[in-house]
Amino acid sequence: MSQKNIDKFNKLKLKYLKKISDLGINKVKLDKDFIESKLNNDDVNGLKNFIWRKLNSLVKINDKNFSKLQLIYFEMEQFIKSEQKSKDSTYVRTLYFESLIKSSEELSKGVLLEVLIIVQNSPHICDACKKDKGKTYNFNYALNNHILPHKDCTCKSGCICNMGVSGKRDSNGRLIYID
Ligand SMILES: [Zn+2]
Ligand SMILES: [Zn+2]
Repeated sequence: MSQKNIDKFNKLKLKYLKKISDLGINKVKLDKDFIESKLNNDDVNGLKNFIWRKLNSLVKINDKNFSKLQLIYFEMEQFIKSEQKSKDSTYVRTLYFESLIKSSEELSKGVLLEVLIIVQNSPHICDACKKDKGKTYNFNYALNNHILPHKDCTCKSGCICNMGVSGKRDSNGRLIYID
């Protein structure tokens, strides 16, 4: 057993078990599942699998709760990016944006929405991403089409573009209501 792996194991366990219980898995149940998994205290890969399984079970529990799913997919993407670097996180990012859009619809309360594409100001951003900078999409279009991450992106670390959903305003600056 190497001390380095034990330290890494403890750090990961502390960080992600907290996140998972914050996302809604009962702490007592989580600790019990952890003990039952009988992981060695230096089995970093085993722990990563445990964390990934729990994140997936959160998706299952919350499959209709889009604001919650948004948070879960966000954590999943961060987890892949920092702990499973060989894996592609694009699909999780796609699911993140899908739940962001669906939860915005639920929260919109009859206000017509639009989607703004936010692209970072950086020389490393590819042309496909740059092309969409500051563009706004009709909300219904965003609901039914894949907008982000950019499909034709060639940025070195993948598309990091973001979106902002807000109420569309008329020429007098007033929100538009759909009835
Ligand atoms: Zn992009
Ligand atoms: Zn790009």
